[in-house]
Amino acid sequence: MSLLVQKYGGTSVGSIERIEAVAEKVAGFRARGDDVVVVVSAMSGETNRLVNLANNISNAPPSREMDVLLSTGEQVTIALLSMTLERKGCPARSYTGAQVRILTDNSHTKARIEEVDVHRLQADLKLGRVIVVAGFQGTDCDGNITTLGRGGSDTTAVALAAALNADECQIYTDVDGVYTTDPRVVENARRLDSITFEEMLEMASQGSKVLQIRAVEFAGKYQVPLRVLSSFEEGPGTLITLDEDESMEKAVVSGIAFNRDEAKLTIQGIPDTPGVAHRILGPIGEANIEVDVIVQNVAEDGTTALTFTVHRNDMAQAQALLTDIAKELKAPSVLADADIVKVALVGVGMRSHAGVASQMFKTLAENDINIKMITTSEIKITVVIEEKHLELAVRALHTSFGLEGSGQI
Ligand code: ADP
Ligand code: ASP
Ligand code: MG
Repeated sequence: MSLLVQKYGGTSVGSIERIEAVAEKVAGFRARGDDVVVVVSAMSGETNRLVNLANNISNAPPSREMDVLLSTGEQVTIALLSMTLERKGCPARSYTGAQVRILTDNSHTKARIEEVDVHRLQADLKLGRVIVVAGFQGTDCDGNITTLGRGGSDTTAVALAAALNADECQIYTDVDGVYTTDPRVVENARRLDSITFEEMLEMASQGSKVLQIRAVEFAGKYQVPLRVLSSFEEGPGTLITLDEDESMEKAVVSGIAFNRDEAKLTIQGIPDTPGVAHRILGPIGEANIEVDVIVQNVAEDGTTALTFTVHRNDMAQAQALLTDIAKELKAPSVLADADIVKVALVGVGMRSHAGVASQMFKTLAENDINIKMITTSEIKITVVIEEKHLELAVRALHTSFGLEGSGQI
């Protein structure tokens, strides 16, 4: 008998039939004697629908009200799933994030979980109930509803698994595991039996939306056994592991991540003096805008240029801030470009292998793809390229690094 936290994403609960299938699956685990805490997302498309409603009212709706709105999607699903379980004779109780008391900070629409109160959940588990928790939401210390950022139900599940000391946190989704790259872009992408936390963290941070980055961070920090599986078919899925296994050591590149949600900003003609990067990026950080790839050019004539990427949703705000900073610094121009994407090779094997970067650049060159920015870490190489080249780049790199075959080069 195990304690399982199972998260079902939007597509997995996208219709009454799908909710029925999830209830059947959950009831099956229960019948085998497992304790089950279920975390659900809003039905597929619902969160986007709610975002669009708000955008029809204002292009900058108050973030507090945005959270009140967005949290409703998950509330619908917990009720429907609990009703279905009850009808099947499987005792179940639904909880919103606030009812559980998932305490977060107060940064609306991208709140972080600070504490989870498990008392009510443990009492229910003792009574043999399945617990159904609304993903993606919590409450701040003043009782305001908060949400955890898109894809945040994954993080709810991991946080609950950590707090309850669950045997496994299972993320059920519409693919049967973590693949070498998004299987919707590269048809012959290969499912990985396992991937290390470190690699998964890079994959998520570079854009693989199969797991929210904070969920991976949380799972790594609290050593939560984490698995990605399909809610549509049986299978072992992909285990996120702490250690590298033998086959991983042989693979230099484990996967390719990409992100279409980026935009690039450049401020030109800034003085090449100490403190300038801070004067530019300080206000951007204070506005809670995450900056990703940063490149500063070699100075010419005492001036230089700084280019960085942000989430596309933050581009307009970042551009406005940068325009003000440019005036102060007497910098002649600010450029914004939303037609870019980030593509990253990820693999712990890169630590002990040279030549990955040159093979990557050669492959892109052979396909006439211009690289606009490059950044590396110990286990990843990221390039920024034009959006129109994305699929070609990912497919070419996937083949070049032999990912569809044995996964080894
Ligand atoms: P859910 O609604 O269940 O949370 P998501 O849409 O957030 O599902 O995540 C699953 C999707 O992630 C898949 O349908 C797939 O297109 C995408 N994806 C991106 N990169 C990968 C990858 N490396 N492996 C598997 N899926 C990936
Ligand atoms: N419903 C939210 C979203 O669409 C959270 C989630 O699905 O994880 O982003
Ligand atoms: Mg998701």
